[in-house]
Amino acid sequence: MRNLYFQISDFIIEPDKLTSLDVINKILVHLWIINDVRIGLGHYILVSKNSGYRSVGYEKSKKRSGFSEHCFLGGGAVDYTCQKKYIKKLVKLLRQSDYKRVCYYPKSNFIHCDLKGHEKQYFICAGKKWVRK
Ligand SMILES: [Zn+2]
Repeated sequence: MRNLYFQISDFIIEPDKLTSLDVINKILVHLWIINDVRIGLGHYILVSKNSGYRSVGYEKSKKRSGFSEHCFLGGGAVDYTCQKKYIKKLVKLLRQSDYKRVCYYPKSNFIHCDLKGHEKQYFICAGKKWVRK
């Protein structure tokens, strides 16, 4: 039997609030992608704090637009991190996964992943800008 390394709650930053089934179904897609990546990496991966599903209300309370992929209006977005020594391998595995857009934040040691668009795109965050590679 395969190990399941993640729980739905790992992807929700407001676990005390009700989350719609639509969002939970979308989270499941992320869970299965990252579970396979976790098996490939052989080391733990964490969903970054504040960076799984964020409700539109939460975003607005932070003075954001509410159109972030993290609001799961589309396929949703999740930021992942791991020990620094494995981050490059994690980037590689995420680029090979079903994620469409992968953006590596070297300074903060995390990787944004989402399902937006049809083509695979890889970015590195420089300053606050995503630079396509
Ligand atoms: Zn993100």
